[in-house]
Amino acid sequence: MSKNTELVEIAQKHLYANYKPAAVVFRSGHGCTLVDVDGKEYLDLAAGVAVCAVGHAHPDYVAAVSTQVARLGHVSNYFWNEENILLAKRLTELSGLARAFFCNSGAEANEALFKLARRHFYAKGDAARKRIIAFDNAFHGRTMGALSMTGTPKYREGFGGLDAVTHLPYGDLGAVEKALGPDVAAIIVEIVQGEGGVLPAPAGFVKALRELATRNGTLLLVDEVQTGIGRLGEWFGYQTVGIEPDAISLAKGLGGGLPIGAMLTSEALGSALPPGTHGSTYGGNPLACAAASAVLTILAKENLVAGARTKGEYLQNALNAVARDHAKVCDGARGSGLLQGLVLKPGFVARDILGKLVEKGVLLTAAGERVLRFTPPLVVTEAELARGVQAVREVVSTLAA
Ligand SMILES: *Cc1c(COP(=O)(O)O)cnc(C)c1O
Repeated sequence: MSKNTELVEIAQKHLYANYKPAAVVFRSGHGCTLVDVDGKEYLDLAAGVAVCAVGHAHPDYVAAVSTQVARLGHVSNYFWNEENILLAKRLTELSGLARAFFCNSGAEANEALFKLARRHFYAKGDAARKRIIAFDNAFHGRTMGALSMTGTPKYREGFGGLDAVTHLPYGDLGAVEKALGPDVAAIIVEIVQGEGGVLPAPAGFVKALRELATRNGTLLLVDEVQTGIGRLGEWFGYQTVGIEPDAISLAKGLGGGLPIGAMLTSEALGSALPPGTHGSTYGGNPLACAAASAVLTILAKENLVAGARTKGEYLQNALNAVARDHAKVCDGARGSGLLQGLVLKPGFVARDILGKLVEKGVLLTAAGERVLRFTPPLVVTEAELARGVQAVREVVSTLAA
């Protein structure tokens, strides 16, 4: 029996069955390559869902994290730590926002945004302003607050939800205008809906949201968990559409593989969550912050943020060529930077194709029902992207037959 098979059998017996992973158990990685327990290599164009921004085992990342864990791993927020302070300084400088709160995941970062918005108006004596506008298809995470803002009904089914969240069609400004009123605390939006199907916001949409929000005294919150930290070819997705949000959430690419999330806020929101109103035991711990700082350093040093734009264009063109040659199966490509999707025709299921790609040694994820999603490490080369697209082309051509 292969080591993979042996471990999968144990997994199926002892791990909680809320996931449905491919039958591959990974042991190591380098760059965009992952190696399973039987020694087979895979081209990783998923990066753990847009997480491993600097690839696997980047030497500078390994050095920074190893040095940090050997020096100090955790102290809690009863005390300051150097890495947390310096990371906050860097993130606020890059974003133009003023303050950073650290947590451990995307859902937690969005939870913080949710609480920030409500607490901000409560502190101003306007507790009635608590409604959040979110969008259909949006993904904001799986905790109850983040889930209640998530716009895919199947993720919410059976869990109820917090009151006073309104979901509107993504891109429908008229609906937003109609829904805005004195009870709306915040609008939360993704610059590109990642999980929802790699759907970029229609041109001008986010800019118009910014104007509508400002006019209505409403906060504009941007979920940058998937789009932030260079993926769209700017440090943050909102910089690609030329707006200034009131606050954003970050996670995924920020830690490069170690769990860290963050909320960045404007100075005006700096006192909405005073001591005692929010916190996290692990949030901002030295190890996760050292990892995030290493990611920022590597992205800057290797010019990977601008690289995400040019490599993203290359990838989108290559995927569009596949779509043109197999128009019976594919509708075309869409996305921004190194968040790209190949959209399949109705009737094809993206998840079903992933297994065939695994057999060819290529790792991707699905977004929505029928989008093959590319979120490669930002260190990916065009040659690696070409290899991945060729594997997709081969699988798509068998479907066309
Ligand atoms: C992945 C994701 C989240 C949730 O992040 P977790 O770390 O899984 O909690 C939230 N928002 C967006 C846009 C995401 O892509």
